[in-house]
Amino acid sequence: MRCFMFALLTAAQAAAQVPDSGRWQELRFAADDVAQRSEDQFIEQTVALAASGRLDRDRVLLARARRIVQGLVHAATVLKPAAADWPWEVRVTSDPATEAESRAGGKLLLGSAFVARLALDDGELAVLLAHEIAHVIAEHERETLSEALLDSRRDLPLDVVAQRLASDIPLQFRLARLAAIQKREADQLGMLIAHLAGWPSAAMLRFYGKLAADSAPGLIASHPSGDSRISLARGMSRLLAGQRP
Ligand SMILES: [Zn+2]
Repeated sequence: MRCFMFALLTAAQAAAQVPDSGRWQELRFAADDVAQRSEDQFIEQTVALAASGRLDRDRVLLARARRIVQGLVHAATVLKPAAADWPWEVRVTSDPATEAESRAGGKLLLGSAFVARLALDDGELAVLLAHEIAHVIAEHERETLSEALLDSRRDLPLDVVAQRLASDIPLQFRLARLAAIQKREADQLGMLIAHLAGWPSAAMLRFYGKLAADSAPGLIASHPSGDSRISLARGMSRLLAGQRP
């Protein structure tokens, strides 16, 4: 009986649901371990960017991003209360290769060249940042690492699984379907977060329109096609327009 109870408890800890959509996830690694690893990586990344003079040079954009993220995170915690205690932080880089990135636990990196290229106003920037915050509250990084562990069919430490995920192309291929689900989910959940934070649905349409028209690969290449994102944005903005934030 005790063994049975233990098995039930373990199963309950491994299963979680994405906010709003309710999609079930298998989460095998502890949230704290994944967040700690992400934080270490973020420190390493930002220290390197600072050393090359490419971190937080655009103080105006940094202040804008911080103000917008504050409101978005507040809205996101309505959907995921635990996220209120996460160490949220946004930094800005002039590295032209960076568009926008997020890590488990709430570390965000925004590319100033990308924001300038798309000439994003505050509402459009909020939609971009909300997409990244959606990846975080849906715990996509933790889920991907957990699925990579399940794929290995044996117990492996987090660092080993993370290294495999970064270098094992067949493994990445096996997880491509999950990645596609997560990206579409981040678009949808992100628009809901932006709406809850009070940003107008018109900003969602404008942002995804600009993204589709942007010729440089990046978010376009690694995410759903521009057209499918615009149609999702249209559907979401129609749905959300009828609801009060
Ligand atoms: Zn994304």
